[in-house]
Amino acid sequence: MSLQKSHYSIIDPNNMRKTMDLKLSHYHRVSPCFFDELNQRYKRVIFSTRTATIRIIDDYTWKLLGIGEIASIHPDIIDDLITIEILVPSNENELETIIARNETIRYQDDNLYLVVQPTAFCQLGCHYCGQEHTNKLMTEENQQRFLERARRQLETQKFRSLTIGWFGAEPLVGLSVMRSLTPKLQSMAASYGCSYNAKIVTNGLALTDKIATELVKDLSIDSIEITLDGTAEYHDKRRIQKSGLPSFDKIFANVKALVCRQDLDVQVNIRCNVDGENYESVSLLLQQLADEGIQDRIHFYVAPIHSWGNDAHTRSLSKEEFAAWEIQWFSEMIELGFNPKLLPNRNPIVCMAVQPHAELIDAYGNVFNCSEVSYVPTYGTPNEYAIAHLSGLPMPGQRERLGNFNQDVRQGKYSCSTCSMLPVCGGACPKSWLEGIEPCPSPKYNIEERLLLSYALSRLPNVYTP
Ligand code: SF4
Ligand code: SF4
Repeated sequence: MSLQKSHYSIIDPNNMRKTMDLKLSHYHRVSPCFFDELNQRYKRVIFSTRTATIRIIDDYTWKLLGIGEIASIHPDIIDDLITIEILVPSNENELETIIARNETIRYQDDNLYLVVQPTAFCQLGCHYCGQEHTNKLMTEENQQRFLERARRQLETQKFRSLTIGWFGAEPLVGLSVMRSLTPKLQSMAASYGCSYNAKIVTNGLALTDKIATELVKDLSIDSIEITLDGTAEYHDKRRIQKSGLPSFDKIFANVKALVCRQDLDVQVNIRCNVDGENYESVSLLLQQLADEGIQDRIHFYVAPIHSWGNDAHTRSLSKEEFAAWEIQWFSEMIELGFNPKLLPNRNPIVCMAVQPHAELIDAYGNVFNCSEVSYVPTYGTPNEYAIAHLSGLPMPGQRERLGNFNQDVRQGKYSCSTCSMLPVCGGACPKSWLEGIEPCPSPKYNIEERLLLSYALSRLPNVYTP
């Protein structure tokens, strides 16, 4: 579709009319045309990725936009399209706008995000995991050094909040470290006028009623993410305990008990990792969760297996296959009463790698600005991604290697620089790009279907409002 410029007057915030050429923003996606029985009109759903906003537009207006006949469109519609940034000044360098906004937001971020791996051990031995697990627990000396490092960050007075992410290996194996560090971190945050919260990614095996209570009530954890790789038949072939025992029944019982607790204010996310071996089990797991009546108390999502410094991604579905299955799973979720997230939000900070102050500290005292590289033997000893060590030992990595991702995109190094999804994607994973693996998430491949689903649901009262 040709995108010609058009001449149109817009009203600036001071109600001053300015004359400006407008163009259809590069940062949009649009659904196929469909016939609306109610209005007897052909329509489309458009998605402005610059503002993560959708609009229903009749096909005739869409065609006018496409040929640059903007002056023929009703002024109210044009004003709205300008507001949601579907129409933008024709001389605007849009990539520069998005990168500049992302950079501003990442430097203005006043939350200090620190991820801690209290142990290098995990009870599970999943075939796709790239980590090497040992019995190492973070020592008291390294805990003390970590607290001092956190204090130095907070002393800069740049922050208004401190968020701790407990991550593994399996963090609950290092619960003693979490118990020891949390009150010190809480009181340190308070002494610098910062709020405190924490989240955890756990395999869920040790997440008993008692521990869940402690995590939420004593350790200020407000978000728990647990992985279930399908129903027992599938999950237990993949997420098997190192002892050889299955893990599904225990984890599922823990999840069920947790989400039924009325006294715990915590977000529970269930992640289902899929590849070519277990994708058929997603529907069965959805049904099992719905049979338990907990579908509206969890956020459920499916994630493709990716490379963890290994070849795990080679067993994955193709991007297109995954995207098609995901639409099927969304439909099933809607029918079963889940509340799936269909449309992505604006994503100015792609991940911790680009947060100037965010860090991950592993149980050995290595410091990283990425969550997927610690304990991975492929990255050598010392780990090529380690940017520091709590002891002060020099490490080979540099924060900028992943942290300069926005600059790399600005310079056209990766295809994100020409991708219309960039504002809502952010670039997905700087490390993957660096390693030559395209990390494009599923919305790139199925956003049109997501838009149609959103439209269909928006007409069903009390189900979903985009
Ligand atoms: S660079 Fe990739 S793997 Fe590392 S934290 Fe970011 S998204 Fe995760
Ligand atoms: S990671 Fe892929 S989908 Fe995301 S902005 Fe880059 S090219 Fe686009």
